[in-house]
Amino acid sequence: MSLTLPRSLSPTRVTSFTDCPLAFRLRAIDRLPEPPSPHTAKGTLVHRVLERLVWEHPGAERTAEVAAAELERAWAELQDDPEYAALELDDRSSAAFLADAAQLVTNYFALEDPTRVEAAGVEICLEADLGGLRLRGIIDRLDLSATGDLVVVDYKTGRAPAERHERAKLTGVHLYALLCEQTLGRVPVEVRLLHLREPLSITSTPTAQTLRGQRVRTLAVWKAIERACEQGDFRPRPSPLCGYCGFHAWCPAFGGVPPELPAV
Ligand code: SF4
Repeated sequence: MSLTLPRSLSPTRVTSFTDCPLAFRLRAIDRLPEPPSPHTAKGTLVHRVLERLVWEHPGAERTAEVAAAELERAWAELQDDPEYAALELDDRSSAAFLADAAQLVTNYFALEDPTRVEAAGVEICLEADLGGLRLRGIIDRLDLSATGDLVVVDYKTGRAPAERHERAKLTGVHLYALLCEQTLGRVPVEVRLLHLREPLSITSTPTAQTLRGQRVRTLAVWKAIERACEQGDFRPRPSPLCGYCGFHAWCPAFGGVPPELPAV
């Protein structure tokens, strides 16, 4: 009846389990391939553009024109990406995809002035042991503030959460703050979600208390995952997120059947 426990957990996976335990199981334990999605491919494209804009160009050069040139470069590279090719977009859809990505890059400039950004690193992989749980995550950008403090920045290309979900969605970012504390020995003074679509910036200030609370909540999620693995019990939790889920064929909420549990 039992399922193999994942070896580590990322902030994205923590949110995935709390959003829908079945989707978490199919993704993190059964490791079923997910159909290619335009949302994911667009996210990859826009992340690459913003990463290069800040990391490969000195402050004064980080203009909208340079960002447009970086988009052109990343777009050319994307044509050879198997995940993008699998979308099989026709000329019209492909033009709409690129136009939307360009709009997200334009919107970025409404959220911050990149000429003033001092990045300590981009796409930083951090890993820490949290009471038996191996927590790992990749930070989109880690900045140094004017006073030399750390600021975690995370780009979002999907819609911003409704206000009542805002706190839950900040969970991932607080986990990045926890990872900084555990691996770098420093707590960021700020964690910032840059929602490029609206555009909207959501900022939070980690404290010793929020980090303690986050640690307790994360370990509680890990315990719940351990229990679910022991009992082979990962239930579907239908929500508006089902519209973005590629597992309908395996989901009882959509008439599907999950993969069989391994025999004991
Ligand atoms: S379709 Fe919805 S309920 Fe089913 S696995 Fe996906 S997110 Fe969960």
